[in-house]
Amino acid sequence: MMDITVLGCAASTPTPERSLPAIAVRIDGDVLLFDCGEGTQRQMMRHGVSYAAVKAVFISHLHLDHFLGLFGLGETLRLSGRPIPIEVFGPPGTLRFLSSFGPREIFSVHEITKTQLEECNPLAKSPKPLITINEHDIFVLPANHGPKVNAYSFLLREHDRRRFHEAKAKSLGLAGPMFKEIQKKGSLKIGTGSKIIHLDDVTYVQPGKCIVYSGDTSYSPELAKAAKGADLLMHDATFDEGQRPLADERAHSTAADAANTAKKAGVKQLLLFHLSGRYRDPQMLLDEAKKIFPNTIAAEDGLKISL
Ligand SMILES: [Zn+2]
Repeated sequence: MMDITVLGCAASTPTPERSLPAIAVRIDGDVLLFDCGEGTQRQMMRHGVSYAAVKAVFISHLHLDHFLGLFGLGETLRLSGRPIPIEVFGPPGTLRFLSSFGPREIFSVHEITKTQLEECNPLAKSPKPLITINEHDIFVLPANHGPKVNAYSFLLREHDRRRFHEAKAKSLGLAGPMFKEIQKKGSLKIGTGSKIIHLDDVTYVQPGKCIVYSGDTSYSPELAKAAKGADLLMHDATFDEGQRPLADERAHSTAADAANTAKKAGVKQLLLFHLSGRYRDPQMLLDEAKKIFPNTIAAEDGLKISL
């Protein structure tokens, strides 16, 4: 189960309604952050996400609006005497930035390498996770945020889980510790007779949930491939099509770009994220996206989605 909370969904500068980009994903008590804009710790307090539970932070790129919040969050955790560092994954340069205010033992920094961008890419032949947390794998791929910027998109995939058809299992005589035993052995002899039950007869595989965070990006065909079938795509939708020249110049997406990615990928739901302050009401962006991909919602600070 994943609980997603939008902590901030503004583009570049905050507005009275929107804080700078950060998304919290809670999995089994641990919190992962995707980007950590200025003010993230306060947004966590406001929206009921425990900052003490933050296990890892994934920084999409090193524009200030996407990572400045790490300093404040780190300082609060350091003052609270937290013993375990937060794993921070970001582009080359992350370590230099984070150590610029003195030693930062509170962070364990991993700068994503070129090799990881190939090996941990969901489009690789057998992708290797960047990290696995509570049976959830995190993968990374390059985003299109201009030629000079190392920008990434992230994909979080829950492991598939084997579940029991409880009623069927019980009707075949499975009880108590036998459930564990059959999982271990793959099959089990019941009673004194010759009746053998196979694991596949009484279980099914429940596919893990998958969410994708685009980070700042213009339209990316690779992302559309990587996000195939995802339960939720959280995508840059900074502008509407009327601002196409600006979107192209700044290497951001329009709501239509986000919707086209969602449609091509066949995702279940699209969340328009990273919204320019010019759209105080995101209805215009929603209308644009919904024409292409109907199951679209617009981000707002404090929005929660459970998968
Ligand atoms: Zn941005």
